[in-house]
Amino acid sequence: MQKLMPIEDFTEVTQTAKIDRQAHGWRAKCLQRLIRLDLPVPKTVAIPAATVRAIAAGHPIDCKAILSYFGDDALVSVRPSPANPDWGGPATILNVGHNKARHDALVKRHGAQAANAISLRFIQSYATHVARLDPDMFEAKDPSPDAIRDALRVYALEMDEEFPEDPARQLADVLRSMARAWEGTTARLLRQAKGAPLEAPLGLVVQAMAQGMGQGISGSGVMQFVDPVTGQPQITGRYLGQGQGRDALKTAKALYLTRDPRGSSLEDIAPEIFATLIRHGAACRAKLREEMQIEFTIEDGHLAVLDAVRVQRSARASLRIAVALASDGVISAEEAVLRVEPRALSEMLHSQVDPRGPRDVVARGIAASPGAATGRIVFSSAAAQASASRGEACILVRRETAPEDIRGMHSAAAVLTERGGMTSHAAVIARGLGLPCVVGANLRLDPRDKRIHAEGRSFGEGDLITIDGTTGQVLAGAAEMLAPALDEHFQTLLGWADQFRDIGIRANADTPADAATARKFAAQGIGLCRTEHMFFEEDRLVVMREMIFADVSEDRAAALARLLPMQRADFVQLFEIMAGLPVCIRLFDPPLHEFLPHDREGMRELAEALDKPLSEVTRRVEALAEFNPMLGMRGVRLGVVLPEIYDMQAQAIFEATVEVARRGAAVVPEVMIPLVSAKREVELVKARIDAVAANVKIKAGREFDYKLGVMVETPRAALRAGEIAQHAAFLSFGTNDLTQMTYGLSRDDAGRFMNIYVQQGVFPEDPFHILDVEGVGELLLIGAERGRKTRPDLTLSICGEHGGNPESIEFCRRAGFDYVSCSPYRVPLARLAAAHLALNDRSMQAQTGHKIL
Ligand code: PEP
Ligand code: MG
Repeated sequence: MQKLMPIEDFTEVTQTAKIDRQAHGWRAKCLQRLIRLDLPVPKTVAIPAATVRAIAAGHPIDCKAILSYFGDDALVSVRPSPANPDWGGPATILNVGHNKARHDALVKRHGAQAANAISLRFIQSYATHVARLDPDMFEAKDPSPDAIRDALRVYALEMDEEFPEDPARQLADVLRSMARAWEGTTARLLRQAKGAPLEAPLGLVVQAMAQGMGQGISGSGVMQFVDPVTGQPQITGRYLGQGQGRDALKTAKALYLTRDPRGSSLEDIAPEIFATLIRHGAACRAKLREEMQIEFTIEDGHLAVLDAVRVQRSARASLRIAVALASDGVISAEEAVLRVEPRALSEMLHSQVDPRGPRDVVARGIAASPGAATGRIVFSSAAAQASASRGEACILVRRETAPEDIRGMHSAAAVLTERGGMTSHAAVIARGLGLPCVVGANLRLDPRDKRIHAEGRSFGEGDLITIDGTTGQVLAGAAEMLAPALDEHFQTLLGWADQFRDIGIRANADTPADAATARKFAAQGIGLCRTEHMFFEEDRLVVMREMIFADVSEDRAAALARLLPMQRADFVQLFEIMAGLPVCIRLFDPPLHEFLPHDREGMRELAEALDKPLSEVTRRVEALAEFNPMLGMRGVRLGVVLPEIYDMQAQAIFEATVEVARRGAAVVPEVMIPLVSAKREVELVKARIDAVAANVKIKAGREFDYKLGVMVETPRAALRAGEIAQHAAFLSFGTNDLTQMTYGLSRDDAGRFMNIYVQQGVFPEDPFHILDVEGVGELLLIGAERGRKTRPDLTLSICGEHGGNPESIEFCRRAGFDYVSCSPYRVPLARLAAAHLALNDRSMQAQTGHKIL
């Protein structure tokens, strides 16, 4: 016979017992805290993880000794107690120890009906969870003596033995079955998905059953004090008279807790117990420093608290709860900040599909910009604008978007494209606008018959769909929505985050609307204003095209002279909105052909507008076309070849500076040169910009300061940062192009195969989404180090789409960058993520005594 494990291998949970979360699990520790709060917790024994592991390996445990703690005739429950509640665990088993004798005793105490219900329930759960028999075989309409007999008969038939009557044998089987279920592959995978380590410990908790059945007021329920979706204070829960366990509460017969029109809530039938529960709830919140859900049982009017678990909550509820706990002095502001996951904030900035509602998913793609919106399908920018003018929400569906779609995107509620990746045009613009967007979706767009085909279904213009840019799903019809939650709790938490963080956060903002959003989210300035986006308005596009078509420099100068006041007005507006905060303006970047029409119809319209023959327009468009436009006449190359464009922009920036300064606001504009690869490019542009500045100063009779910097977007610029920094006050890493050029991977097309690449482990993540710290990151470090060697006060930043990712912020912070710049809607996430990094470093320093940064 095998030796039974010694009795010290389990511990009665008392106020002073040595109960440890790692050894006995969170539930055992939590129950000890409830006992210390003097809550009426039934007698409980904790079995540590080491013992559970031994049980799983086949070592028997002295179950008689455990049961002796509970006295003769007691029934017990067994619950899982992993170190972390999120890791789940095997199902709870109630009424262990039940047999014929105890059935008879229960009949005497609580009546036949209650005794039958307990018997049947125990046989069912033992048969399915311990003996692993098919639950269908044990289904019964009601707990009659016949049903119990049937269940026992089926058990004996299937197991070749009678249902075990010995309580110690029952408990041993239950413990073994739970210990082994925890070791199973599915359970392992499930908990690993929730972040559990490979050898996650499981403790078990054995507790005296408090029967929710009896002659007086008897039943069981759960109670919590906040709404799990909004986090608003509110008593919710369910109560079932003559019921046991959480599962029973799912039935329609369960009652609400607070007064309800049916007049039969717990508050109605047992007001004193209700009031006691509220007191217990308040004590738990204050002492456990968390919003807890209490599980309770009432037996003949006596209340027992069986358990308390952290309230399940949505992201928005978790923020509200953290702020409320800190405002009430239960936790510190630091802890509140750390309790909110930065990525979860995006759920609060935009409308979301209500997780409680149904979802009819018709296609999936890359979740390119978070939030959700419902609208009618349109296939062109013109239709989107028409729809907006009728006040109807629409979803712009395109194969991919181009600059001429920007106006349509402004009019749409969301954008869906068949092609593209995280940094394709649609994705970047949608994030900037805060529009929900799904790109690279598994659907086929048929532009001729204006339909999309997805997974055997088809949708046409005017059909209602919902875009969920948070999950990348396309849903049929109108989904139920939750409104954004930019309330005072949100602002309070981010205000606290700002007190702790130590890296700057700016926004990428191109328009006054973007700048206003950036201010709303408390960005510390604009880190990237892409000036080319200012030219897509209808009136400007025509002048811009005239400029591009100009063959001779006088014609170009005339067109630029018309653009100058428009640009100046743009900058005045931006400077005013940003009210003295730094504004970094990037000189014109895109390939010129992007401003030209792509189809015959567009060319004809342009010929009309320019009063030129169609053939000439066609010829010029062809002449400007490039085989590889992303590596062509872009950025500073344009500034070197057609310097008048940058001259005009510099003049507009400096004149706006003077104008705003005259009105009393001091601005120090930052002018940034894009796509640099050689020092000489910077020298050429700098010489002209300095000259323009000098001219404006003379003309205006006013001094002003400005900074000139370089955008590091080519690998060569990073490698040559040492000499480039001789002429630059700042370097800002444009990681979209830098990733494209480091990998030689098209940012607009890589979405087509990125999934396969990630699935096959070629790349750990989409490098356009998560900064490749090994390759692109090394270029950042080289650029930063070489740049600062030349100029120790060089300002360093990142302004690619990676700027808002917590991982990139961590990387940049460690590399000594001054700030990160990201889409305005990602600014809150970045502020919170930066605060987490600083606070985590602080606590590491406190633990190790070493300074981390
Ligand atoms: C970049 O390349 O990282 C960048 C910010 O510029 P754009 O996305 O406009 O090319
Ligand atoms: Mg770029």
